[in-house]
Amino acid sequence: MMMFQTLARVMRAPGDTLTVRCPGCGHRAVWSRREAFARLGPDATPHRSRRRLACGVCGLKGGAVLEI
Ligand SMILES: [Zn+2]
Repeated sequence: MMMFQTLARVMRAPGDTLTVRCPGCGHRAVWSRREAFARLGPDATPHRSRRRLACGVCGLKGGAVLEI
């Protein structure tokens, strides 16, 4: 897992993507920069993002693995 301060600081190129992986069922979602900003906000931190994200498949909350 990468350490970063906010999404806006690490996702600088329009083509950057954010991969959200569920440790419970292995489901992966890949979001474009624009999608990630829309869902989490450009000021979102990894800690806050993980707490907010729930898996769309198994419903697990709070454990998502974020990769840029
Ligand atoms: Zn899941």
